[in-house]
Amino acid sequence: MSKTVAVIEGEDSSPEAMRPVVELLSDLLPEIRWVYPKVGESAIDEFSTSFPREARQAIDQADTTLFGSTSGPSGAALRYLRWGKDTYANVRPCRYLPGCFSPLRYPDGIDFVIVRENLEDLYVGIEGDLQELKFLEKEARSSGQHISHYVNGRYALKIITQEGTQRIVRFACELARKRESKRKVTCVTKHNMLHRTDGYFLKIAEAMVEEYSDLSFESYIVDDFACRLIREPQEFDVVVTPNLYGDILSDAAGGLLGSLGMSASGCYGDKYAYFEPAHGTAPDIAGTNTINPTATLLSATMMLDYLKYESTAKNLQRAIETVYGKGISLTPDQNGTATSSQFVEAVRECL
Ligand code: ATP
Repeated sequence: MSKTVAVIEGEDSSPEAMRPVVELLSDLLPEIRWVYPKVGESAIDEFSTSFPREARQAIDQADTTLFGSTSGPSGAALRYLRWGKDTYANVRPCRYLPGCFSPLRYPDGIDFVIVRENLEDLYVGIEGDLQELKFLEKEARSSGQHISHYVNGRYALKIITQEGTQRIVRFACELARKRESKRKVTCVTKHNMLHRTDGYFLKIAEAMVEEYSDLSFESYIVDDFACRLIREPQEFDVVVTPNLYGDILSDAAGGLLGSLGMSASGCYGDKYAYFEPAHGTAPDIAGTNTINPTATLLSATMMLDYLKYESTAKNLQRAIETVYGKGISLTPDQNGTATSSQFVEAVRECL
């Protein structure tokens, strides 16, 4: 049965990566129907809102969404794809492709995945004025803090729920099984400082992995992990972490491969998934046709897997690897001189 993919190109440099990638995918799989819900600036002109009902329906009716990156205007659509579609697991692979411009001397064998909880933590977006927290003064004093010292200021709520943690850890464990690699899950938190939130996340993770006796489990404090990520990235397999750390660490993981242009991502829920490069809109290079489309292409391979076009996904993955292996047609972030479109053309030729 043919599939429908909703495409949201995003802003700044993002369409310069998305367009050649969708063109390539359309040629590879002509049976896929591509729809372009109007969101962001173009929707405001026509519907006076950045996320009209028509766009929401198009996303609902599609099998999945391929999303570029947004610097704001398409943000409402992105929030819908996350919280509206309950896509709680953000999967961000980091795999060294021989030929890519890694700053490490020994990057061979880097192959891990960050599984970032996608809906909770500080990203619930509840912030306010410290004055509203006066009622917590007694509790704060007992832990050596004095809210009254900080009356002029703001706060942000960090939410870690039992259900949210259980499902993300389960997702990570299942992924570690499926990958058949090191069969290891690494939990990353700041439980030594945030006992009641990150400590809770870790405790739930420890209890959950008991059900997975075939997997090994370890946990690190996020600052220690940041160091290990650079020093011994080959040690990791599946890394599970609350939202904020996952966001930051996956950009660091992109750095291991030379640039954010290598960082793919997929966001999975029980009933929907969408795919987007992990990087932002790269506004500083907009209009130059030099954004690296690898992250978008690799996100597309994850999407093709999800849509059950596994062999096309594999071929596409191999073609990307071949282009890096040859070391030609790479974009400037990978020390090359090719444009975004030339890179995608090189991948097409390898197919
Ligand atoms: P956000 O807040 O959405 O993450 P940002 O501006 O902080 O956005 P990015 O847009 O990801 O971050 O850009 C950070 C740097 O990485 C910029 O210099 C940008 O040009 C570069 N960059 C990001 N993605 C790519 C890419 N695909 N190819 C080349 N360079 C990229």
